[in-house]
Amino acid sequence: MSDPNCLFCKIAAGDIPSTRVYEDERTIAFMDINPGSRGHLLVIPRAHSKDLLAIEPEDLAAVTRTAQVMARRVTEKLSADGVNLINSCGPLAWQTVFHFHMHVIPRYEGDTLRL
Ligand code: 5GP
Ligand code: ZN
Repeated sequence: MSDPNCLFCKIAAGDIPSTRVYEDERTIAFMDINPGSRGHLLVIPRAHSKDLLAIEPEDLAAVTRTAQVMARRVTEKLSADGVNLINSCGPLAWQTVFHFHMHVIPRYEGDTLRL
């Protein structure tokens, strides 16, 4: 369920501070510490899974639902003009934290973000 050496498990437990913007039974959303755009946040399952290959389908579905709630929220509250949902699976694909997470990256007209 939880890995004592995992950064996002510690964030989920509240042992490391984060700016939490949403939570429910299975998922938590919090602001990315190094945002690519205004409102960039991460959605994680409370239960530890290292990546897309390992996550339970129920947790993946719950994370996806929360990501949609967050995409709607940044569109309404931050007036985002678009949203990227991104998951990186494995070091070759740029995954750096090995607790499954979905990036919710608001996009704004004229931004120069390169993903
Ligand atoms: P990845 O590169 O694995 O797809 O994404 C990991 C993300 O976690 C990065 O965007 C990085 O900025 C974010 N991150 C790393 N450490 C922390 C932290 O301690 N707190 C928060 N809020 N985000 C973090
Ligand atoms: Zn974890």
